[in-house]
Amino acid sequence: MKIQLEDLTKSFPGRGRNSSRVTAVKDFNFEIPDGELIGLLGPSGCGKSTTLNMICGLEKPTSGKIFFGDKDVTALPPEKRGVGMVFQNYALYPHLTVRQNIIFPLQNLKGKDKLSRAEMEKRAMDAAALVQIQELMERKPGELSGGQQQRVAIARALVKLPHVLLLDEPLSNLDARLRLQTREEIRKIQRATKITTVFVTHDQEEAMSISDRIVVMKAGVVQQTGKPQEVYDDPVNLFVAKFLGTPPINVFQGKIKNGKVCIGDAAVLDAPGQKDRDVFVGIRPEGFLLKEDGPLICQLGGVEVMGRDISIVSNHEASLNPNIRSIISAETKVDTSSEIVRFAVKPSKLFVFDGSSE
Ligand code: ATP
Repeated sequence: MKIQLEDLTKSFPGRGRNSSRVTAVKDFNFEIPDGELIGLLGPSGCGKSTTLNMICGLEKPTSGKIFFGDKDVTALPPEKRGVGMVFQNYALYPHLTVRQNIIFPLQNLKGKDKLSRAEMEKRAMDAAALVQIQELMERKPGELSGGQQQRVAIARALVKLPHVLLLDEPLSNLDARLRLQTREEIRKIQRATKITTVFVTHDQEEAMSISDRIVVMKAGVVQQTGKPQEVYDDPVNLFVAKFLGTPPINVFQGKIKNGKVCIGDAAVLDAPGQKDRDVFVGIRPEGFLLKEDGPLICQLGGVEVMGRDISIVSNHEASLNPNIRSIISAETKVDTSSEIVRFAVKPSKLFVFDGSSE
């Protein structure tokens, strides 16, 4: 099911007597094609959950519209929208078994949607099979690991055969290993069911790894949308550049001078025809090349060999990061006895942002 968000805006009353309204989401316009998995990404408080709650119907937009397919669902309550929702805290009923938890949403179906007991059992088993928890059906949530509980929550969201699946930070309560495993499973389930899915996270790596497309938000406003690699390779502003990538992008205070991008005295890239001005220069960790006559001269801090790669930590007075982190191939020889390290920069990994507007 295609989802369309049209000028979606949500503001809340301020808390104090004289405080102004909080705009949680502003003029959100976006189309999610049928069957895609979208990662909604941004720092805490940027409006991700509010957006998801509006899509699901738990929150009413202040203005704007939401369409599922061609149908305007803006005024419909959650139960009439055909959405499955999974939250961070699973919200399973502790006194019910896994089977009873999964069947629960089916018991309230009315009229033509009403199912027989046998149909409900079949649907629950199908949903359980999708997330591979068939052997756990008679257990109570307290007897399951966090990852298993989250799978039950996903099965429960899928049991009504929703057109749309909404996941709000579904992996935050899992440890690192389970997170990785569960995110791959979510991707597999989504591919198998082809349910249009919105996945909210503040973890850029998580969003980048499983999404068909990502939406990066800041303070209620969409900054950029696109395929993960496209956004990583061509960030529209400094915020997006800094938000994506581990280790993070290295940012330098720089200048455009005489048609060159300069960091201090070092001309790191040609910028023909560009007018002289102050800029921020962003260089991805993989954008540095170790070169004896490289223009960018940094103080060498340390070298870590990490199997395939070498991570070089260095410093430069124009760097805005506490350390410059560069990742180069392990085949490169690094003179660790030297106090300095000289870099050239790969043009495709260097981004220039305006000094005032970023
Ligand atoms: P997090 O990752 O921390 O969950 P988020 O990106 O999901 O954050 P939202 O929960 O959507 O952000 O909140 C967006 C903004 O709206 C925040 O400033 C938040 O304080 C505010 N907000 C959210 N819900 C309400 C509410 N019911 N009343 C007042 N303000 C709210």
